[in-house]
Amino acid sequence: MPLHQAHDQRALIARWRALASAARLRVRVLTEVKGEKIIYLESTRRKDSPDINYLSAGVHGDEAGAAWGLLAWAEDNIATLQQQAFVIFPCMNPHGLQGNTRVDHRGLDINRRFHLDDDPISGPWRKIIAARRWRIGLCLHEDYDAQGCYVYELSQHRGSLSSRILEECIKGIALDPRRSIDGRPSRSGIIHRRIIPSDLPGMPEAIELFQLGCPITLTFETPSEFSLDDRVQAQAAFVKAALHHAMNP
Ligand SMILES: [Zn+2]
Repeated sequence: MPLHQAHDQRALIARWRALASAARLRVRVLTEVKGEKIIYLESTRRKDSPDINYLSAGVHGDEAGAAWGLLAWAEDNIATLQQQAFVIFPCMNPHGLQGNTRVDHRGLDINRRFHLDDDPISGPWRKIIAARRWRIGLCLHEDYDAQGCYVYELSQHRGSLSSRILEECIKGIALDPRRSIDGRPSRSGIIHRRIIPSDLPGMPEAIELFQLGCPITLTFETPSEFSLDDRVQAQAAFVKAALHHAMNP
């Protein structure tokens, strides 16, 4: 992808619309914010599936590698999209991606608002999440402070699924070597939680997804200051590896 296109959210969404029918995905509108639709894609005839995969990117608009990485994975994995059940939010914050900002069109960080039933974005999102049964949730992000890739894993499991996943997606970008990330202990790029932290200023997507019944959520982060192509590739490789290991735990 040419660098100048990284924040062209309409070009991104046009590519998703183009692959939807081949991938047997229906394009739906979550809501419309300031003239831009927030869309999601859902597998046709799979609403009652007990094992839906949740994928999302673009919650923070200054994290373009995540949004384009998710698209890159989708364009290369049409057969997987046809065979399994998915709900995909390709760009939760269209104005943010367009303007290269973390916050949305209201100046708010959406990722502190997913607990709110009366928010115009998280309200309808919560209804969709609560009405379905999930296998795994992947929330794709980037981090300016990161020195490599890392993942937040939220699951009841004692062991972490993430170490096997990360092994397969660190060819271009190494693991973040820090022992503490955002004040949380990190080991080989993994921050694993089994309980919800009580000190958060508002609820992120991955935590609310977990609270609403998704048994495992992984928030993947690539380092924003690294090359865009490497970040896109790492994000796509992460989605592929995570779905593989969720199927074969
Ligand atoms: Zn983010």
